[in-house]
Amino acid sequence: MTQQHNSDYYIQLAEKYSARNYNPLDVVLSEGKGVWVYDVDGNKYLDCLAAYSAVNQGHCHPRIMEAAQQQMQKLTLSSRAFRNDQMGPFLQELCELTGYEKALPMNTGAEAVETAIKAARKWGYAVKGVEDDCAEIVVCAGNFHGRTTTIVGFSSEESYRKDFGPFTPGFVTIPYGDVAALEAAITPNTVAFLVEPIQGEGGVVIPPDGFLSAAADICRKNNVLLMADEIQTGLGRTGRLFASEHEGVRPDVMIVGKALSGGFYPVSAVLADDEVLGLFKPGDHGSTFGGNPLGSAIARTALKVLIDEGLVERSAELGDYFLGRLQRIESDYVKEVRGRGLFIGVELNVPARRFAEALYQRGILAKETHDYVLRFAPPLVITREEIDWALERIEEVLTS
Ligand SMILES: *Cc1c(COP(=O)(O)O)cnc(C)c1O
Repeated sequence: MTQQHNSDYYIQLAEKYSARNYNPLDVVLSEGKGVWVYDVDGNKYLDCLAAYSAVNQGHCHPRIMEAAQQQMQKLTLSSRAFRNDQMGPFLQELCELTGYEKALPMNTGAEAVETAIKAARKWGYAVKGVEDDCAEIVVCAGNFHGRTTTIVGFSSEESYRKDFGPFTPGFVTIPYGDVAALEAAITPNTVAFLVEPIQGEGGVVIPPDGFLSAAADICRKNNVLLMADEIQTGLGRTGRLFASEHEGVRPDVMIVGKALSGGFYPVSAVLADDEVLGLFKPGDHGSTFGGNPLGSAIARTALKVLIDEGLVERSAELGDYFLGRLQRIESDYVKEVRGRGLFIGVELNVPARRFAEALYQRGILAKETHDYVLRFAPPLVITREEIDWALERIEEVLTS
C-alpha cells in the first residue's frame, strides 16, 4: 500500500481548515480491521476506544460491509415522505431484540436524546396531565448526552456550556447516584428522569449498587418515565445487552446509537412502548435521514453480528479478565480500576494524557477521559491474546 503523504501533512491540513473543537492524538488513521487500526505512516495500533463504543463489532466488519455495499447499490435514501423496504424490518428486529413495542429511528445520539426529551414532554402533557410548558426532566451531574444547545444546557461541564446560552428551561440536576436527591427533585411536573447507567464521558463512573433499581422504583411510584441513555453503554459494551440489566431494570425509554450501526453510518433510535411513542402524530417530529434504507440495512446486520458472534457474552467474559488483570497491576499512579464488561476506567492520581501518549508510542490507542481517567473500551471482537498483548504494554506504561 502506498501513501502519498505522511501524517504531518494531514495534521496540518486539519489544523488549518478544521475548527479546533477537538484535541486529538496526532495519529492519522487510514485503515481499520477488527480491533486494529493503521495510520498513514504504516503503523499499527490496537484500538482501545472503539470510537466511543460505536465499533463494538470491530472496524469494517465484513458482514456489515457486505450489507452496506449491497444496499448502496439499490437505494440509499427515500426520506420519510415515502416508505422503504428496510426500515420496517429494522425496527421489528430492534424491538424484538430489546423487548420494546416501538422505535423511532434517528441518526446521531444527540438527536435520539432530543427525541426522547420531546417524547417525555409530550407524554407528560398528554398522559400525565402536566400543565402546558411546565414539564420538568431530572438529570444527573456529570452527564453526557450530546452537544445540541438543549442538551449542553443541562450539562454540568463548564466547557460544554460556556458561551452557548441561553439554554432550554425545564431541567433539574441532581448528584449522580443519589437516590434521596432524585426523590426530593421530583415534583408533580416531573415527566422523566434521564440517566446513563454508567457515565462514560464522565470518566466510566459506576453509581452505587442499587441506584438504578431504586431510581426505577421512585419513577414508577411517582408516575415519572425512566429514560436510560445507553448510547455508549448499550449493545453489549458492559457485558449485557444493556447496562440497565445489571440491576434488572427495564427503562420506560431506551436511547441507543453508536454501535447500532457498527460504525458504518450514524444510526440512533428511541425505544419505548406504545404509551409513549404512540403519541407522535404526523408532523410532530422528523428527520430527513432517520430510518433511511442504507442506515436501516446496516443496522440490521450490525445487530445480527452482535448476536451471532456472541459479542455480549464475550464482553462479559473478557471484560472480567481484563479488569482483574488491570486491578493486579501495582502502580503508584493508579487510584482505582473499575468497569463492567469491556468498559473499563483506570483512574489515576495524575493527568492521564501523558499515559495515553505513552500507550500510543507502544501501539495502543486509548484516550484520557476527564483528565484523570484512562478508558479501555476495545471492540468486543478482541481476543484474550490481544488483551494480554495490551496488558503487557499498559503495565509497562503505568509502572515506569
Ligand atoms: C456519544 C454519546 C451521546 C451523543 O451521541 P452523538 O452521536 O455524538 O450525538 C449521547 N449520550 C451518550 C451517553 C454518549 O456516549
